[in-house]
Amino acid sequence: MSESKQFQVPDQTGVDSLNEAFGSEAPQAVLRWLAGRGGRAQVPLVSSFGADSVVLLHMIAEIDPSYPVLFIDTGKHFYDTLHYRDQLKEHFGLTNLQAVTPDPDDLKEKDPRGALWITSQDACCDLRKTVPLARVMRNYSGWITGRKRFQTNDRADLNVFELDGDKMKVNPLASWGPKDVAAYIKAHSLPGHPLVPRGYLSIGCAPCTSPVEDGEDARAGRWKGSDKTECGLHI
Ligand code: SF4
Repeated sequence: MSESKQFQVPDQTGVDSLNEAFGSEAPQAVLRWLAGRGGRAQVPLVSSFGADSVVLLHMIAEIDPSYPVLFIDTGKHFYDTLHYRDQLKEHFGLTNLQAVTPDPDDLKEKDPRGALWITSQDACCDLRKTVPLARVMRNYSGWITGRKRFQTNDRADLNVFELDGDKMKVNPLASWGPKDVAAYIKAHSLPGHPLVPRGYLSIGCAPCTSPVEDGEDARAGRWKGSDKTECGLHI
């Protein structure tokens, strides 16, 4: 994979043009374009190794198994997710999987008993997700996410390319629905997250993720019983 091109974050006009050009393209075309524009060095895939993550991981591995993949290891994941991460790493031959972890001194100071999520989920997400990713992102120009329009009202207008301050987020699956995800997983015989058959249709940290009932939105099991719908990475 060529590293000759240095990825440049476009301005809003450039982002609008990209959305026009790629808005209805297949996700693989977006990823290939990105990889050919220096994305490998500057725009990693951030994966939760959750319910749908296998789709983008498969697509990126098909393009380049050494493409950087960041996993935000909050220290609060289900054992099943950590096991699944290891399984997919092996399955796809991913050679550049990196853990993004909270700062140990911050943890000692702000969450010494590991129970901050009980009193403030926002502060806990900040400590364990937002701040660690922001720290690592100093070295990058943006990142690839697995967000999709159908997931929440806040995501209903999601574009494939978007600016977030001086970073660019790339959402190749923005237009995909649950049927597209299921069809892709089936077509490529991809291994599913072991918690999905138990009703966990969107999977984050163990203390803040519940199975959903029939007919509920996939993300209804995230921070159930609270108004919180996002961890802070995408606000
Ligand atoms: S999802 Fe829950 S446990 Fe995970 S960082 Fe956020 S509040 Fe903490």
